[in-house]
Amino acid sequence: MSDKKALLRDIPKVDEVMKITSIDGLTALYPRELVVEAVRGALEGIRQSILNGGKEPGRLKPEELSARVAAALKRLTRPNLRRVINATGVVLHTNLGRAVLSPSAIEAVQMAASGYSNLELNLESGKRGSRYDPVEGLICRLTGAQAALVVNNNAAAVLLALSTLARGREVIVSRGQLVEIGGSFRIPEVMEQSGAVLREVGATNKTHPDDYKKAINESTALLLHVHTSNYKIVGFTRETSVGELAEMGREAGLPVMSDLGSGSLVNMDVLGLPPEPTVQQTIEAGADVVTFSGDKLLGGPQAGIIAGKKEILDRMKKSPMTRAVRIDKMTVAALEATLREYLDTGRMLQNIPSLRMITADEGLLKERALALKALLEDAAGGRAAIEAGKGSSAVGGGAMPTAGLPGWLVSVKPLDMTVEDLSVRLREGDPAVVGRVQDDRLLLDPRTILKDEDIILAGALASAISRRG
Ligand SMILES: *Cc1c(COP(=O)(O)O)cnc(C)c1O
Repeated sequence: MSDKKALLRDIPKVDEVMKITSIDGLTALYPRELVVEAVRGALEGIRQSILNGGKEPGRLKPEELSARVAAALKRLTRPNLRRVINATGVVLHTNLGRAVLSPSAIEAVQMAASGYSNLELNLESGKRGSRYDPVEGLICRLTGAQAALVVNNNAAAVLLALSTLARGREVIVSRGQLVEIGGSFRIPEVMEQSGAVLREVGATNKTHPDDYKKAINESTALLLHVHTSNYKIVGFTRETSVGELAEMGREAGLPVMSDLGSGSLVNMDVLGLPPEPTVQQTIEAGADVVTFSGDKLLGGPQAGIIAGKKEILDRMKKSPMTRAVRIDKMTVAALEATLREYLDTGRMLQNIPSLRMITADEGLLKERALALKALLEDAAGGRAAIEAGKGSSAVGGGAMPTAGLPGWLVSVKPLDMTVEDLSVRLREGDPAVVGRVQDDRLLLDPRTILKDEDIILAGALASAISRRG
């Protein structure tokens, strides 16, 4: 006990530490207050260690103390949001920021962020314009909708649509479509938030048109179809299609809404991929309103796109909620540029990174995997067994949940540390690298590793695998 007291008494004062030459020198690199904060933190660390019975002396050697302070300053000043090399193979990884933007979208964001723009000014008339003008026409042209609106994300789009169309009234939904998307988006809860009343019909696996018909009453406001984007009900099933709902809606004088979630503009099955309903098909099938994300299969910025009948969209545009969930100028810029890529059908699959990744062919992925393997072998310097072989990746973003995309993977089996240790070190590096751990190996998927990241990844592996302790 008294031993601890003596050690604690030995801890120097902050002022005293600030006079150490090497620590005073840090004030040339960092603001003084930050250095003081780091010194305080280092001294507090020593105090805690002594209190916990650690063997540390109260008074460290100046070199040791200044090394700790310098390390703390590095941690304090490095950005919290950092570049990550996505080696998971999940193309639309929500935790890693979903879609990577196209070069044209990046350029547009740069333009919008670095100067003023005509965000809400009509340059021809000199009058006030709408921030949705740059994208509404493009969305209509690409989807066949009469009108469109863009909000912060698809969750906001669903909330806005339900609140505008069905507040205080009933919305009929199939029990098989009460989905939960990651991050607490659940249809029943969003419904409650919007002030609409959920009227579930049918069974989990089967919902017939008659189930909807029987539920329609004078307080029904909307027939809702939710694309079960992140799961599939297979086997003995029956889903009532958007087309069938549209027919019932017309008979009953009710609008029909489809929450598509991933909302692709490209017909995936033409590309040999599992089918995803496109926005165009859904509009054509008769949906009055369609909502989908900007950063899922579309491959653009985070946004919620609402497309549909003009009369309905006009009502939404007037809602005060629209103002609360409006998009910023960088989103407008990135979304417009992304949508413009779709006008060039010959090049869109190459120009939009997520589409390029999803449609990457196996031969190319094999080539990339073999090249990456060679780089990593050099980088590991015999400290890991590295192999390349066939494997599969996922689309993510709640699209094509049952489809593994066939490709090639590189596996890294460290020889003198555990695979968990290696993956932690890679994650904490700069840039961070995130892969998949499976059977004592770290799997790295070239599908989602950007071309110029191969060499950076090799450098990251070299430093992670050689660092001791
Ligand atoms: C992803 C998804 C949402 C939520 O979209 P965010 O853009 O993440 O807000 C809503 N509905 C469905 C069906 C989805 O797949």
